[in-house]
Amino acid sequence: MSNQEFDPSDGRNARESISDYGVKMLDQGLTKGTGGNISALVDDEYMAISPSGVPYEEIADDDVPILDFDGTQVFGSLKPSAEHSMHAQVYRERDDVGGVVHNHSPYASTFASISEPIEASHYLIAFAGDRVPVAPYETYGTEALGAAAVETLGDEYDACLLENHGVLAVGDDVASAFETALMVEYCARIHFQARAIGEPTVIPDEEIERLQAKFAGYGQNH
Ligand code: 13P
Ligand code: ZN
Repeated sequence: MSNQEFDPSDGRNARESISDYGVKMLDQGLTKGTGGNISALVDDEYMAISPSGVPYEEIADDDVPILDFDGTQVFGSLKPSAEHSMHAQVYRERDDVGGVVHNHSPYASTFASISEPIEASHYLIAFAGDRVPVAPYETYGTEALGAAAVETLGDEYDACLLENHGVLAVGDDVASAFETALMVEYCARIHFQARAIGEPTVIPDEEIERLQAKFAGYGQNH
């Protein structure tokens, strides 16, 4: 589809969710400064993505660029996130994903720096899978980083660590990717603390499956 065919009003909700959740990411301590980035799927073939290096409090809805998955910008004048290729590769590979959150949250990044998965020592890990696996190190902003992340996520994980870097979380929309990113950081903290005072017990795979089925009906969900 050519640039002329893109109707910017289509991406309004997506652009709004980028500016809203950027501030939430900062407020929740999932990132520092301008680190991390967020994207939302638009019309199945575009994504709204946070601009590169702009403080989250300063990102207005209309500042949020929209790109196709080849990296062509179809809306906005600000330069998109350095990680746009990683986000695009996720949307290409995972048709269940509508939102992607990348951050440098401190406990999860600690595990990323020793290249160790976060094991299932707390039941909320089931938001991500049976653990949070680690994608091997690649330079930030490269296609290689995106390829490593997508390969590590596969079809079964909704989050992975990026070695020596941070976290990638995916979901139906930005809200659910954000929730998973929060759970990853929480589970990383618990796992870190548990390891500091003892040997954490690990939840078996069949229990993770049971939890994932149960989460689908959690709260007011039917
Ligand atoms: P951007 O500000 O370009 O999104 O980069 C931040 C980052 O986290 C790179 O990995
Ligand atoms: Zn980063």
